[in-house]
Amino acid sequence: MLHIDMNSYFASVEQQANPFLRNKPLGVCAYLSKNGCIIGSSIEAKDVGIKTGCRVADAVKLYPAVNLIENEPSKYRSTTTLIFSILGQYTDQVEPYSIDEAFLDMTGWANNFNQLEKQAAEIQNHIKDMAGEWMRSSIGIASTRWLAKFASDIAEPDSVLTINEDNLESILKARSLTDAWGINYRMERRYKALGIHDLLDLKQADPGKLLRALGKPGYFMWANLNGRTIDKVSKPKDPKTIGHSYCLPKKTTDLGYLKGVMYKLCERAGRRLRDKNLESAGVAGIVGFVDGGGYRKHVRLGEPIFDTLSIFEEVDKLLFSTQPNRKIRFLAMNLFSLRPVSGQMSWLDNCLQKRQLAKALDVINNKYGDHTIYPGQMFGMQGYARDRVGYRKTVDLPDQEEITTLVNEYLN
Ligand SMILES: [Mg+2]
Repeated sequence: MLHIDMNSYFASVEQQANPFLRNKPLGVCAYLSKNGCIIGSSIEAKDVGIKTGCRVADAVKLYPAVNLIENEPSKYRSTTTLIFSILGQYTDQVEPYSIDEAFLDMTGWANNFNQLEKQAAEIQNHIKDMAGEWMRSSIGIASTRWLAKFASDIAEPDSVLTINEDNLESILKARSLTDAWGINYRMERRYKALGIHDLLDLKQADPGKLLRALGKPGYFMWANLNGRTIDKVSKPKDPKTIGHSYCLPKKTTDLGYLKGVMYKLCERAGRRLRDKNLESAGVAGIVGFVDGGGYRKHVRLGEPIFDTLSIFEEVDKLLFSTQPNRKIRFLAMNLFSLRPVSGQMSWLDNCLQKRQLAKALDVINNKYGDHTIYPGQMFGMQGYARDRVGYRKTVDLPDQEEITTLVNEYLN
């Protein structure tokens, strides 16, 4: 199994496109206001402490001469398409994991780790030849999916790291628990309470004890470290939820403005829904207030919906039926209970007509660029909530408790 992770992806694509940005701290921003955050920092920016997620104002404090540019999603997507097409030349089992990561099941394409290492180096050079010399990657090789990703996570940029039975323990020794894919600081505390201080301790721990103390997650992490989890590459699955969120540059109670932004979020989610030939039987809306707190409301629908206007009408009813009395700083929406479009119901109502209209609008907007055609609500809104790509495109539907955390995260 092989896992490839492009190094500092968004920043590298920008540095590839513009040689003047190379070898310098560079932050690719969600948007360029003081409160905007950096969604991709270059290797040089990471060296001066500017991490992904850092606010623009903080980045400038850390390194005043930092280059900051606004993100350009279409650029990253076209590079990703090119890279994934290259990966497809090395195996028929490619599982895209995010915009810049993929698992490659090389079973049948390579006989041993030596061959695999040669192929990994070939893939890295192939990508540089086709996408540009600045497009570097880390590749992890191991017998399982989990160990392969772990290997690429800890590998140096522009390198290949193989984990096998011979080097596994020396790699895990003295390595911090949070270096493992799936262990956060909260889990780390729980392991430490059991006397497990590094990843080697965890590998050598008693699985029965882990199961009793930490439940299945504890056991599975032990199994991962021992190379016991054998899972095949899976073809990309349909998402469980599709959502979009936006931190408003203008904090306001102005319903016209809020609805306009929300309409755009619904349009983006609706297009992805239709693109995947899905429909949605659940809609959620989320607001976060400037002075802290926020809430989420959701509705389950008898008839699934797919067109932007219907989605927007549901969110509108949930969130904007009364005038907000506190300034809003964050908006999000989510579609859940997704299912493949069923042919039968399309004859009901004016559903078929609606579907054809929605498709026609998507075709036009896909071909001629966003917002070539848009309804009245969106007028004047083209500049807001522009297309942003995240490393994971779908926002998972949070439950009632998580929503407070989520909203607070966005507000802080
Ligand atoms: Mg990456």
